[in-house]
Amino acid sequence: MYFKVSLIISFVLINLLKGESDRQKQIYKVGGIFSNVDHGIAFEIAAFSANNKYPWSEIELVPFTHIIAYQHALKAYSTTCNLLRDGVAGLFGPSSEFSSAYVQSICDAKEIPHVETHCNFNIRRNDSLVNLHPHPRSLSNLFLDLVEAYRWQKVVIIYDNDESLLGVSTILGLNKKEKVVVIKQLETQDSGNFRPALTTIKATGNTEFVLACSMDVMEEVLKQLQQVGMMTDIYSYIITNLDVQTLDLSPYQYAGTNITLGRIIDPEDTEVMQLAESIYKFRKSREVNTEDEVLFPSWKMRYETALIADAVQLFYETLYDLTIDKKKSITATPLSCHEDSSWNEGYTITNSMKTKSVKGLTGLIRFDTEGFRSDFNIDIMELSLGGLITVGQWNSLRRSLNIYRPEKTSTRSGVENIFNRTLTVIITISQPYGMLTETTTQLVGNDRFEGFCIDVIRELSHILGFNYTFVIQEDGVNGVFNLTTGLWNGMIREVMEGRADLAITDLTVTSERETAVDFTMPFMNLGISILYKKPEPAPPSLFMFVSPFSAMVWIMLGVSYFIVSLCIFVMGRLAPAEWQNPYPCVDEPEFLVNQFSIRNSLWFTMGALMQQGSELAPISISTRAASGVWWLFVLIMVSSYTANLAAFLTVETLVTSFKDIEELASQDEIKFGAKKGGATANYFRDSNLSIYQKVWSYMVNHPELMVDTNEEGVRKVETENYAFLMESTTIEYVTERHCSLAQVGGLLDDKGYAIAMKKGIANVQASEICIAISYFEKYVEESLKKGRCNVFIIFNI
Ligand code: GLU
Repeated sequence: MYFKVSLIISFVLINLLKGESDRQKQIYKVGGIFSNVDHGIAFEIAAFSANNKYPWSEIELVPFTHIIAYQHALKAYSTTCNLLRDGVAGLFGPSSEFSSAYVQSICDAKEIPHVETHCNFNIRRNDSLVNLHPHPRSLSNLFLDLVEAYRWQKVVIIYDNDESLLGVSTILGLNKKEKVVVIKQLETQDSGNFRPALTTIKATGNTEFVLACSMDVMEEVLKQLQQVGMMTDIYSYIITNLDVQTLDLSPYQYAGTNITLGRIIDPEDTEVMQLAESIYKFRKSREVNTEDEVLFPSWKMRYETALIADAVQLFYETLYDLTIDKKKSITATPLSCHEDSSWNEGYTITNSMKTKSVKGLTGLIRFDTEGFRSDFNIDIMELSLGGLITVGQWNSLRRSLNIYRPEKTSTRSGVENIFNRTLTVIITISQPYGMLTETTTQLVGNDRFEGFCIDVIRELSHILGFNYTFVIQEDGVNGVFNLTTGLWNGMIREVMEGRADLAITDLTVTSERETAVDFTMPFMNLGISILYKKPEPAPPSLFMFVSPFSAMVWIMLGVSYFIVSLCIFVMGRLAPAEWQNPYPCVDEPEFLVNQFSIRNSLWFTMGALMQQGSELAPISISTRAASGVWWLFVLIMVSSYTANLAAFLTVETLVTSFKDIEELASQDEIKFGAKKGGATANYFRDSNLSIYQKVWSYMVNHPELMVDTNEEGVRKVETENYAFLMESTTIEYVTERHCSLAQVGGLLDDKGYAIAMKKGIANVQASEICIAISYFEKYVEESLKKGRCNVFIIFNI
């Protein structure tokens, strides 16, 4: 849409703002033709502050600002003619090189000072115009010097249009210095989709780039570089556009990408901030709509805006000098585009501007003898974790590049470095750490997997901001060091050889593995234990009925029986009442009989013991007393026996075949084994304890009892008389699901599972990640207190 705003500051307004002044001022009209509203505002503000800066000066600039469409050359032409007719003493703008050529040709003919601030590739030495923009070739030297300082052997220049490529033309000369320079153009026809081109560039494997793109596409290019995974710590960029600092670069500052750029204005400079603030206030007072939001922080100010302010200042000071030197006033005259007239003083001003040097917002403004801006400084900036930092300075005149980059601190390393990277995470299919999702629909990518470790990685990626792709370790081997070949296998090898960035499963941290890879802090604590069938109830035995009493009780009972029988026999002999007449009809019997013979005594006590009684009845007091005591004793014994027997019959006696590893190792009936090459087996291999050595030699002698996976071990325990040595966390998971299985004994050691990553390249400081599950809350608290970990993921399971 055609966009036009015309802003004119009236004399009255200026006079009002300036306050009363008795002095007779020499008015100089200056014309500004811009296509950006902010440029127009900056132009007017600069004229106003120049007038105010030198209150004693007799010069007063009156700006006439015209905002025209960028490529509207005809409009630029007619506006220039109108301004000349008004009698302007100088003409600023426009930014478009195409329109600017028209304006310049008129100004040349009319000898009107023409001041440009845009990057002009066609500017020739000794042109009559004054261009404050550093010459593109001069700037190109800066990027050449940077490439050389960084000792890049192969440079890929990514550019969007010819102008951008011309801006780095001197780098192309590196080809002659045995360095490789490759140029790649980003096709813009494809409605801003640079991804295919960037993906192709990525596939070449180059990591050092000069990014020469215009601000129209720069933001999108950076975004898409990130999308295709080219914003990681292996990539380095030199960005040639001096306005890049006005973009929000925070999305790229955590990935560790080396981004270097230059800047000509310092947004923290007081004058730059003042200009930004004035533009903001001006916009607010006029309610000017611009493409930017109304708030205008200084870091968002593009350098051409500052160049316009500098141009006005230079113009003012030149006029001031001339009027002081010549001691006479310079008067601008109205000129017509259709007449052959010109302004005599014009070239004087133009030439004087080229010989003057002033300190502006863009640093020292000085021109070489042929009219190119020279002796300017560019700050070298690098994107760090804290944002943009100045790491050096380059001077155009001396071609001196001073890099004084502060030492990179490693303290904040890590967590940020994996930001935005796509990591390959290797897992094994092992319950419950990594499992295939059971579903009726076909799943692809990471959705195919579920499990504890899958959740850990997902949560970590949310916290640390990385992407990930799961790959499976097909043989399910975690990693064993082969003493013969000196090589690792399994997941550890994959990580060591860089095929995977992270390895996660029930991967035990062992001192041996620590020598090969880096581990994070353990996310789960465990120990070795034994998985075996639950103890079974014993079959009822033949002599079950004796179990209520111990053998001694039975013996003592028998002894008491005989003693009591003997006592009754003796008492019966001694007691007269026990001697009875065998024939009651005979008054004077020849003999008496005694019922408590030895046989009867034994029978009598036995009858009482069995609670059956007998036909024998004690008659004398002594035998009756003895019988009573015996009956009482029998009553207690029988009651105790009956009660105990009932209890014994109801309680199931469970038989445990072994209680611990010692008992397991010392028997032959139950076979046992562990996972082949696993941390459990290796624990026995490396142990010095004789009992563990015995276990290890059993394992070595029975390779058929060693299994490939935990699942196979569990199956063996269920179906055979087999004990499986495995890790307690997995035992816990298995026993919750297989009711016939149980853990036997306690933990033999204490260790943990952790995430493994390649040694040395660990971007994540191992101590910076701690993962804990809720029932290890105590561990979490402890670690937090001791400052061991920065990141915690607590799973509620
Ligand atoms: N967690 C073990 C390892 O990392 C595997 C299982 C085991 O040995 O019990 O090797």
